[in-house]
Amino acid sequence: MIEFGPVSSNLPVHAPLPYFQVNADGHLLIGGQSVVDIARRFGDDTPFYAYDRQVIQDRIAALRAALPSEIHLHYAIKANPMPDVVRFVAPFVDGIDVASAKEMVTAIENGAEPQHISFTGPGKTDAELDHAVRSGVVINVESERELAPIVAAGQKYKTRPQITVRINPDFELKGSGMRMGGGAKQFGIDAEIIPDILQKIKTMEVDFLGFHIFSGSNCLNAAAIIDAQDKTFELAIRLAKESGITLKTLNIGGGLGVPYFPGDTPLDLSKVGEHLTRKMVEVRRDLPETEIIMELGRYIIAESGVYVCRVIDRKFSRGHIFLITNGGLHHHLSASGNFGQLIRKNFPVIIGNRMIEGRETELVNVVGPLCTPLDILADKMHLPKAEIGDYVVVFQSGAYGLTASPIHFLSHPVAREVLV
Ligand SMILES: *Cc1c(COP(=O)(O)O)cnc(C)c1O
Repeated sequence: MIEFGPVSSNLPVHAPLPYFQVNADGHLLIGGQSVVDIARRFGDDTPFYAYDRQVIQDRIAALRAALPSEIHLHYAIKANPMPDVVRFVAPFVDGIDVASAKEMVTAIENGAEPQHISFTGPGKTDAELDHAVRSGVVINVESERELAPIVAAGQKYKTRPQITVRINPDFELKGSGMRMGGGAKQFGIDAEIIPDILQKIKTMEVDFLGFHIFSGSNCLNAAAIIDAQDKTFELAIRLAKESGITLKTLNIGGGLGVPYFPGDTPLDLSKVGEHLTRKMVEVRRDLPETEIIMELGRYIIAESGVYVCRVIDRKFSRGHIFLITNGGLHHHLSASGNFGQLIRKNFPVIIGNRMIEGRETELVNVVGPLCTPLDILADKMHLPKAEIGDYVVVFQSGAYGLTASPIHFLSHPVAREVLV
């Protein structure tokens, strides 16, 4: 357990990190190996991301324990498409959600069955749709325009394309970091025109499986998730009834968040699970056979990952200490605050080789080597006094880390990734 003590009684602190330990030398352990040893395996080459497989497994086990057993769990690999991670996760989940042809290939090559892969995302090209039909993956249709190329590919390969329809709901997930549904959106098809689309689909050479409704991401508020799930079921049941169709599948999205910032409290997963268990009894009256799917990226993978870079320079500027590292926003845009944060806040950061109780701390800015003031890993944080060569570790980095970062910016080396 890593705990973040208050430096002053009125400042919020980061939530404790239950999965990580420190050895007698004060070195952080990841998957039982010290951060220094992992770096040595790479010939002391940093920065790197390390993902702890035990943490991934624990998160999936926690989901399975909390959610009703009939819920199918999918992993949305855009959160972390590293092949070793996908190969590790695939056997523990019931399906993989992909958002591009490349992700689809990654999923297929790393153990996912095509019929358990769903391909979501706006702006799928004809070539991507052709590839998906040929591969036998389920296509989550986001626009009427996608239907013609899907049907054409089905004829070409003498197969019936498997499709679901993504609905842009008439509600949103309140308190979520990113809103993905409700109002005018590029995602999905507006709920109002779903009945029309379904009539057209009925005449087409495709197998319609069901609906997908994803209303938001990174929500820590169980009540808001429960509310969105209730509305999701209500909308899906109403639209299915109106159109006289049977849903083989209903993907109710996910949106479960993890605590990143000071003052964030972890999501109460048991509340979500208890509500869903009760709700399913009611849902089964209308949807007795429907496979209910939840798709999660962040909740499965975020907490398993750390980003590790080293201090290259220690500078003083007009009373402030700057630790300049070889890592930064080119590898970890999220931690820099430039990936969907309105007001920049610090991820949990430590000095990974100085985790000794009672060590002197100092107020520092941890920045990267890029020529932009946006390249910040920690802004005015109290950290153990660090020296050149020390290891800066950013936690909660398993999701939307390297994959969501502008790795070509300034042409520094790309961070390595390792599953430990
Ligand atoms: C991004 C995305 C997810 C995963 O969201 P997380 O916040 O990582 O759980 C799931 N479904 C869809 C459609 C997405 O676009």
